[in-house]
Amino acid sequence: MKYATLQKTNLNDWLEYLKKKAKLYAPRKKEGHFVFRPVKEVEDVCLEYIPTILPPKKYYFPQKERLFKFSAQPFKTAKAIDTFDEFILFGVHTCDIAGIQCMDVVFRDGPEDPNYLNRKDKMAIIGIECLKYCDKHANCVSMGNHIPRGGYDLMMIDIGDKFIIHINSEKGEKLVKGVDFIKESTEKEMIDLERVREEKKKIFKEEFYAPLSRIYDSFDKSFNSEVWKDVGKRCVGCGNCTAVCPTCYCFDVADEMELNLNDGVRYRIWNSCQMDDFARVAGGEDFRKGRDSRQRHRYYRKFKYPVDKFNRYFCTGCGRCTRTCMAGISLIDTVNALAPVAIE
Ligand code: SF4
Ligand code: SF4
Repeated sequence: MKYATLQKTNLNDWLEYLKKKAKLYAPRKKEGHFVFRPVKEVEDVCLEYIPTILPPKKYYFPQKERLFKFSAQPFKTAKAIDTFDEFILFGVHTCDIAGIQCMDVVFRDGPEDPNYLNRKDKMAIIGIECLKYCDKHANCVSMGNHIPRGGYDLMMIDIGDKFIIHINSEKGEKLVKGVDFIKESTEKEMIDLERVREEKKKIFKEEFYAPLSRIYDSFDKSFNSEVWKDVGKRCVGCGNCTAVCPTCYCFDVADEMELNLNDGVRYRIWNSCQMDDFARVAGGEDFRKGRDSRQRHRYYRKFKYPVDKFNRYFCTGCGRCTRTCMAGISLIDTVNALAPVAIE
């Protein structure tokens, strides 16, 4: 079975079923925003949401995590402390699934990151395809992430009173197999799915003026652009844009010592290229002193460097950086301001 059908009236029954299988995380409403949270009451799960404040990366790349314990005398280190339980991310948008694919590329590119990979191994991803634009800040169409492009175990598509579920892995199959109210999709339902996708094409339009390949070229020519000066003047250096980004993965490491000053724990903690001292090295030299150069770096880390290294754009189009920016800096406006440079 490749496509299955779930009546909406059975959604909560399925959520109860999934809750028994593994720890379940899903979006819910919170004070006018949306957040991923462990599911306690299935009625709280909200599948019509704009991107959550933080992407689900907090579950596979936590803000702070222990790496290992150590002792100074005699010198000894112990392996990673945490063991990871199986968990399910439910109702993940396609832009955030693209974010997980980016993390995969980075953390598998040697040296492999065991904490991330162990968690990834325990994680099942159940996506939901967006059929409406979340808001004006998203650029998912230009990035090609408004439609499912793999990276999930199951993908749900709303076709009215039912969801079609695309089964994309063995892990996914195990979450629907044997559930008596989930049936193989009929031909008529598959036609309905096509109809929904055709409707969607009328709603979703490219957000950038230029196609991606031209945007990539524009970055080659824009290192000294006035655009960075303008963005740098407005940026307050809060780091919100990197904290909320599903593809930002920079971290710092820090040791915490016990009172005996011999034993300790090494942590890693999210870091941000927008912080003042991020590029400061021994001797006090700072390679990116100004906010203009730090902002430029952030954009190059989305639209240029990862394309050169991994052949993949590291912006998924979720729009979070714009939505959360205290200075009102818009990623779409910034990229559109740069793109004409490539046309000249
Ligand atoms: S750069 Fe902005 S729009 Fe792109 S993935 Fe990161 S937070 Fe989302
Ligand atoms: S969220 Fe806005 S103000 Fe804060 S560091 Fe990012 S661009 Fe600058």
